[in-house]
Amino acid sequence: MQRHLCSLLAGLLLLTLSSGCQQGKTTEVLHLSGQTMGTTWSVAMLPNPCGTGTAGLEQRLQERLDQINGLMSTYDPESEISRFNNQASTDWFTLSEETAEVIALSLEVSALTGGAFDISVGPLVELWGFGATARNDRIPSAAQVRHALASVGYEKIRLRRQPAAVSKQVPGMRIDLSAVGKGYAVDALAELLMQQGISNFLVEVGGEIKVSGQRGAGAPWRVAIEKPLEDTREVDTIFPLTGTAVATSGNYRNFYVENGQRYVHTIDPASGRPVRHKLASVTVLDQTCARADALATALMVLGEEKGRQLCERHHIAAYFLILENMSLVVYESPAFQLLTGDVKR
Ligand code: FAD
Repeated sequence: MQRHLCSLLAGLLLLTLSSGCQQGKTTEVLHLSGQTMGTTWSVAMLPNPCGTGTAGLEQRLQERLDQINGLMSTYDPESEISRFNNQASTDWFTLSEETAEVIALSLEVSALTGGAFDISVGPLVELWGFGATARNDRIPSAAQVRHALASVGYEKIRLRRQPAAVSKQVPGMRIDLSAVGKGYAVDALAELLMQQGISNFLVEVGGEIKVSGQRGAGAPWRVAIEKPLEDTREVDTIFPLTGTAVATSGNYRNFYVENGQRYVHTIDPASGRPVRHKLASVTVLDQTCARADALATALMVLGEEKGRQLCERHHIAAYFLILENMSLVVYESPAFQLLTGDVKR
């Protein structure tokens, strides 16, 4: 009898605790935002009613981004990666675990894509005027491209884990994490939110996204893919998603025209030149945003035909917008259709 009373009391206490938790429950989406990496970040989330509260959360998210920036920004001459880039020596350079993780993932994507994705592309990015230094008005000569290409090649980067260190086989080599860093930052913010007990959120850094849970009872987060148009912002499609990361790469914002020729910021490491094909944008869905980000750039390098083949061979969930005769043609990879098929837009 006594034992029965005890368990009844325990049950009541549990009920009180959980209903106390429910009382504060809010279905209102909270928005946080700030600036980072030359762009903006934002979080839309449902606060955890049983969690530690959201006071100071915006600042903690900003600090986390500042920390990643201090490691991986080629725009900050004092960052870890800039110090490595400025070192001419081919000796091991001691690295943080985080930067090593991003370099390891990048090298994996390089191997998977036959070198289309290559973080050693930095000298070419600078040469063509898309790097951290101001753009030189002149199109580089073939000799300049050849010279820069001598310092490019992911297989010339050596990475060591435990203790983490990186080395370059050619003194002029530089690492550019621009095509993977924002995605990594999204993953890091998502992890921080999870640690706070927040599981319903949409995190975005400069257009790269991760979604978890939902935005309200029975209401999934909805992610929009933009039309790859230069002057206007128009939505191409919107689809509901959860538990995935979304990254888009395109050549419709960051480019210049000289003598009637368009030069875009995606560089083909094989030719050393900006790519020229009909693929206008690629959106990739993946478990991590860092990988989605890197794969989206790789597919932009490969173009519509080779890109399709890669997606089909390696089950990459990708959505292509191809510019054919002034209109946009869509290609959805089988893995993309599988993920989004029954949640039609
Ligand atoms: P993506 O397609 O994701 O990446 C394209 C970029 O990747 C190119 O611009 C080039 O840098 C590189 N790239 C080109 N070809 C290849 C290839 N074949 N393989 C691999 N990489 C390639 N911008 C600022 O203006 N100011 C800043 O202070 C600043 N800080 C930054 C800090 C960090 C940590 C990072 C990651 C980026 C920062 N940026 C900054 C860069 C800015 O946000 C970039 O425009 C962005 O990262 C490129 O993203 P995207 O989505 O436009 O293009």
